[in-house]
Amino acid sequence: MDQIDPTQPHPARRYNYWLGGKDHFAADRASGDELERLFPKVRLGALANRALLQRATRFLAAEAGIRQFLDIGTGLPTADNTHEVAQRHAPESRIVYVDNDPLVMVHARALLNSSPQGRTAYIEADLNHPERILGHPTLHETLDLKQPVALMLIAVLHFVHGHGAARPIVRTLLDALPPGSYLVATHATSDFGTPEQQALYQQLVESGKSDVWTRGKAEFTELFEGLELVEPGVTPASEWRPDPGTEIPERSDINVWTAVGRKP
Ligand code: SAH
Repeated sequence: MDQIDPTQPHPARRYNYWLGGKDHFAADRASGDELERLFPKVRLGALANRALLQRATRFLAAEAGIRQFLDIGTGLPTADNTHEVAQRHAPESRIVYVDNDPLVMVHARALLNSSPQGRTAYIEADLNHPERILGHPTLHETLDLKQPVALMLIAVLHFVHGHGAARPIVRTLLDALPPGSYLVATHATSDFGTPEQQALYQQLVESGKSDVWTRGKAEFTELFEGLELVEPGVTPASEWRPDPGTEIPERSDINVWTAVGRKP
């Protein structure tokens, strides 16, 4: 296992900080605070993203009949992780979690408390090497890739930097899954920022102060090419099948695109 370096900010720990969790170091808080100065509603975006993960998982388990989940970019365990939501609706659900932060591995026990009927497993691997994830024995011991799988890429693709860089990774993963499989993705975007915010943000990325590579709607939508988009299509995270009675925040406060697609 890699060393955990508390002096370097890490996305999983910064996100945990924004969500109000306990697993973060000073460097994560400093990085989180710096981004929050520029985007004062960033915590709202993190919470909206997490809520989307739960609604989408519920949709997949309860409405789409999915029983297998490949959740890449798992994050530190918090309330209602993917397997808890899925197994509440379908206790036999099987979930493979993948993350590249060694701290997530340390906390993985909380991800492995599967229902007796189902199963959960954890793989430490990098999304930039999808073939290593697909070739990992734990994946094949836990999931049957002849049956539909929900590929969950929730708030992780924006750590893959570069124009066009996310698409081949998503393709490789989807190609390994049978018809009836789903892709759920969320992605940070600058689409709703003012031109000044967009320029400032670009500077942060170029100076290495932000590790989040935002993508616009068109590039995000391309990730779903060849899939049937589930209604309501590509929307901000908080507008994808919101629970009745919830208030919809401003798009510019959330800055996260979402979609769910089915492989025909
Ligand atoms: N999916 C969860 C957590 C998102 S935080 C949610 O939406 O609530 C993003 C996670 O992606 C972090 O845990 C981080 O460690 C992980 N991550 C970032 N880059 C990654 C990579 N290249 N490979 C695998 N995981 C990565």
